[in-house]
Amino acid sequence: MDQVQVACDKCGTQLVPNAAYCEKCGYRTRRARRLVRLAIRVEMVFFLLVVGIVVAFTWIYATQR
Ligand SMILES: [Zn+2]
Repeated sequence: MDQVQVACDKCGTQLVPNAAYCEKCGYRTRRARRLVRLAIRVEMVFFLLVVGIVVAFTWIYATQR
């Protein structure tokens, strides 16, 4: 699945090994895009966790009064 990408998807320029961006046009490599998607997902889970904790504490305070 983690196939090494050798050329830019957009302009076809050869990529530096493990590059996150194309040196010529600045387009993200597939690996970098996947990492971005993963980071967004992790962020969403974290955000929902925080919201859940806030809601839970609000509910606890509301019911204790
Ligand atoms: Zn490019």
